[in-house]
Amino acid sequence: MRGILDTFTSMSGLCENPEKSVIWFSKRATSRDKRGVLSIFPVEYAPRTTTYLGCPISKAGYYTRDFINLKERILNKLAGWKLHTLSFAGRTELIRSVLQSMPMHVMATQLLPKKVLNDLSSIFKKFLWGKVGHNRYLALVGWEKICTTFQQGGLNIRNLNTLNISWVMKTLYNFLAGDKTTWAKVCGAKYCEGKGFWEGNYQRGNSDLWKAFHKIKHCIKADLLWIIGSGSKIPAIGQPWYPNWEIDIQQAPQATDLSVRDLFNFQLNQWRIQNLTQIFHPNSVHQIQSLKPTPTQDLTVPDRLVWKPSKNGLFSLKLAYQFLANQSQEAPADHLAGKIWSINDLQPKIKAFLWKITHHALPTMYELRRRIPRISPVCPRCGMENETIHHMLFICTVSRAVWFCSPLAIRTEELPLDPMQTLQWAFSILLKEQLTLFANIAWAVWKSRNAYVFRAHKENPTSTLAEAMALQAVKVHPMSRPTEEVHMDETVYISSRYAAVCFLDGSWDNNGRSGVGVAVYCNKGRLQHISCKPENVGSPFQAELAALQHALQVITDLQVPKPILFLSDCMNLTQYLNEGEEELIQDWRAIPANFQCRAFLQQNHALRHFLLLVPVKYRLLVPVVKRY
Ligand SMILES: [Zn+2]
Repeated sequence: MRGILDTFTSMSGLCENPEKSVIWFSKRATSRDKRGVLSIFPVEYAPRTTTYLGCPISKAGYYTRDFINLKERILNKLAGWKLHTLSFAGRTELIRSVLQSMPMHVMATQLLPKKVLNDLSSIFKKFLWGKVGHNRYLALVGWEKICTTFQQGGLNIRNLNTLNISWVMKTLYNFLAGDKTTWAKVCGAKYCEGKGFWEGNYQRGNSDLWKAFHKIKHCIKADLLWIIGSGSKIPAIGQPWYPNWEIDIQQAPQATDLSVRDLFNFQLNQWRIQNLTQIFHPNSVHQIQSLKPTPTQDLTVPDRLVWKPSKNGLFSLKLAYQFLANQSQEAPADHLAGKIWSINDLQPKIKAFLWKITHHALPTMYELRRRIPRISPVCPRCGMENETIHHMLFICTVSRAVWFCSPLAIRTEELPLDPMQTLQWAFSILLKEQLTLFANIAWAVWKSRNAYVFRAHKENPTSTLAEAMALQAVKVHPMSRPTEEVHMDETVYISSRYAAVCFLDGSWDNNGRSGVGVAVYCNKGRLQHISCKPENVGSPFQAELAALQHALQVITDLQVPKPILFLSDCMNLTQYLNEGEEELIQDWRAIPANFQCRAFLQQNHALRHFLLLVPVKYRLLVPVVKRY
């Protein structure tokens, strides 16, 4: 034994380090043997389980506790990341890229115990929802869903169990394809003596890799095929080189050492029929005779084991995972969720935010109530309705004001009640930049709501909208920084004929929730002012007039330079004020406001020619503004 160690040292230049070495003895070793070995090579006894290159190795099977190292390494890594500084999207990315690559080398050589995989998954799960350690957490979307692709509505995080099987499949493929490395030779010599891999099985005491091979071999069996080169490497029985091969494993009269090459007569360039009929079922003989290609005489032509699902025939971990996880293209696709991730110019955290909306996974009071019954579902901001996602984003007073005053000028009360449908609507109707603006506004509304609920910050539609505009101005690039001044040059372009543009609109409903809103932009497209206020009015037209009144007040107060382009979507209002058609006003309740506006317009004569009608179908004002 000393001799072996010395030879190794002289040949490799490496010598053993007793302090870093441990030893296991086999059961049959007597205490004399043990003493003898230890006198030559004085090292310590190994514990039942130890680690080698980070993988736990064990003398007799594995327990969950043997993988505690792996778990601890992951937990340590997590502790190094400042959890609260990471967004949901950031955490998702970390799980995808870093965490999942950590147990790979262990996964490729054994099937980890289910308990270990579940424990690791639950660490990832907790981390994703913002918790580490033993803290309780609330997962708003099921892990199964999260582990599907973007197109299927998930987050493209991999399922560890499936991943583990794919990794072992890869190792098995390498083994079957004739890997020349030592481990493959050892496995072959130790376990395949006298029989092929497929007809064999594992036994107690076999290595974990070997057991894993046999546990997952059904996943890969049907997809393998030998392409015959010289035929010398393929055993005649028990290998997938013709369609019927599995049947013949059971029916072959005796084990044979013949290779495929031995069955071919190169002089006559045909199969040796006599041999074939001795070994194979008549159907198989027929199949073999029609095989193309036949073995080539040149011994250097290699036989290739092809994995059929991949184009080049080589095993692909990614494809294997997709097949096992049922993520091939035929799988039903969740189109909306898929589209979210493909929007450019949107920060990942906002994409993740939209994704949460599609899964009803924003923790509004109503959504929390569905999971935790003791929580009150009522909106903490207005206290008037249940705080559904729809209410929080679009209906609650401040949210409405923000949407209305934005360049999109959306009247949120007309949106569908299901936020999923709203997103579908947004995706189908909005232009690219409008869509990102829509998403940025939604995000800003949610942030402002949270600031109010958790930190009692007073909500202000102007700053909420300014935040959304700032996001819009930030190009999504890892190195970009928000610009100090918020410009919207790309969103709103106003002809230099006007010094400013003023959006105005009134909203009205039967429940007395009426209000007006005004937004003023300078001709560089910079937002100068946004305001909105409740207004006690009795009809839609009256609300529109009140809005104009409010706008006139604002431009006077702010001394906005003239000429100003006014934009309204109320045809009555524009016709009346531009053309003076008094009879158009059929609503007597509007008359007082009407008088005031007329008086104001007469004083500021220049104004009246600049009131522009925006057709109702262009609720979204941006393209209209671009035209002028
Ligand atoms: Zn509310």
